[in-house]
Amino acid sequence: MGKLSREDGRRMLHDAGLRATAPRVAVLRLLTDTDRPLSHAEVVERIGTDDWDAATLYRNLIKLDEAGLARVASRVGGVTRFEAKGADEPAHVHPHFACRDCGDVICLHDATLSIPKNDAWREALLDADLQVVGRCPGCRGKSKSRASKRAK
Ligand SMILES: [Zn+2]
Ligand SMILES: [Zn+2]
Repeated sequence: MGKLSREDGRRMLHDAGLRATAPRVAVLRLLTDTDRPLSHAEVVERIGTDDWDAATLYRNLIKLDEAGLARVASRVGGVTRFEAKGADEPAHVHPHFACRDCGDVICLHDATLSIPKNDAWREALLDADLQVVGRCPGCRGKSKSRASKRAK
């Protein structure tokens, strides 16, 4: 997936009925270009507050969520994380892996859930937070190398 250009970002916002303000385009591009859900704090950290303050970035996250361009991917640990909602969604629902050691939340794009044919459950699941909790490969690697050092 290529990076979202500023023009494409503007067009997506217009198509969703939103004004393409500069911070909104910036937040949308960041979410689209990042392959994992981001919390408000992470958005602020990455975009910086030179041009817009944290509250402005937060309002725009919410706006994108309301307009269906982003969605809440996870609320693990009381932290709301947002991700861009791809054009292929909601047909494609992927679970999120939350690491209980480092707290990272990662999209598991390859692991799609088979959605039941039952309409009521379809709807409920398309809207649900699919969360897998465990230890991410990075944290597993760390404890493994610790363990092998101990073994020597
Ligand atoms: Zn981890
Ligand atoms: Zn995701």
